Amino acid sequence: MSIGRRSVLQGLVLAPLSRATANPLCSGEKLPALTVEDAEVFRVKVNERGNWTIVRLNTSGGVTGIGDASQSGNDSQTLAYVKQFAELLRGQSIFAAEWLRKATAPTIARQGRIAAVAASALEQCLWDIQGKAFSAPTYDLFGGRIQERIRVYANINRSTEERTPEGFARMAEKAIAASFDAVKLAPFDEMPPGLTDKAQVERFMARGIACAAAVRQTIGPKRDLLIDVHSRMDLEHGLELARRFEPLKLFWIEEVTPAKPVENLAQINKVATMETAGGESIYGVRGFYPYIKAEAVDIVMPDVKVCGGMIELKKIAGLAEGAGLVTSPHGPASPVGNLTAAHVISTVTNFNILEFSYGEVPWRAELIDPPEQIADSALVLSNRPGLGHVLNEKTAAKYAVS
Ligand SMILES: [Mg+2]
Repeated sequence: MSIGRRSVLQGLVLAPLSRATANPLCSGEKLPALTVEDAEVFRVKVNERGNWTIVRLNTSGGVTGIGDASQSGNDSQTLAYVKQFAELLRGQSIFAAEWLRKATAPTIARQGRIAAVAASALEQCLWDIQGKAFSAPTYDLFGGRIQERIRVYANINRSTEERTPEGFARMAEKAIAASFDAVKLAPFDEMPPGLTDKAQVERFMARGIACAAAVRQTIGPKRDLLIDVHSRMDLEHGLELARRFEPLKLFWIEEVTPAKPVENLAQINKVATMETAGGESIYGVRGFYPYIKAEAVDIVMPDVKVCGGMIELKKIAGLAEGAGLVTSPHGPASPVGNLTAAHVISTVTNFNILEFSYGEVPWRAELIDPPEQIADSALVLSNRPGLGHVLNEKTAAKYAVS
């Protein structure tokens, strides 16, 4: 969809900021007075690890924007919050991103992730709309693009059903054939959280390391191997695991122990010879502050769907930059979530690599129009207005959650 000046002008004529509840500090007279009308939700079936939920926000001038509300852990509760927060936004300026952040913070403080994902999705929609309103790519609204290449790694964990060294290796091979030069797996998922029995932990540890070794063998020494431990280890086993992974030359090891107490992650970070990464479940710059201050990881992983949205992602990246850390957005996501993260992260100096969930559904790229494009292990960002893509309603209808 192309949105030209005319739609903006129509917005000016048709939708003055008239509601008493509108934020008086947003949208001066010289700015196009587009206001939010309502939200639509599109749910598509992916796999047992979760479906994708796309939110589309409509405005007074006909300009629309999309955002990703997937993977909250409870889609129906998140949809209730999408509805509630969209109601708050009704009649507000399309620039009310900070206003939305402030207005939703108390609910998110009480309800956590299910509400945070809803607010983040609506916030993403606003930035898509703003870009279209100004005929500018959204990254220009975030300070302008400085990262030419948005390098991505293939997370093969969600698509590998045969969870053996051979099964992971086969999926890694496919990812390489699809141009990826970095691969991540979480080979300890079968280990029950909180397990401490030495013999049992050893069994899971040996099996997980064997899976990682098989992938390293397949991808060769020049491509990057990333391991996510999904917080399965305690401190003692975590330290041992980091040591035993040394010969595999990991790009990073992620979330070795649970996020709390943060001192355990910090201890592993201090001792591990490879880089450590984490933070995918943390909301907001205030949530990241103690994590970064405690030196929990070398690489922070805010998720644009969970952390509060695009402006929050930029703030978190700034906090990380101040601490001398790298930002690698977490991102098993629909193509929309990866796009919104990519637009922001293309404007920061301390970007490293973006997560991409490889191989979940064959029609993934077609969920947006023009289709998502991965080339040479990078997500191709366009300079079209807004996010540069719209939802492909045909694909969304074809794979809709019934
Ligand atoms: Mg992770």
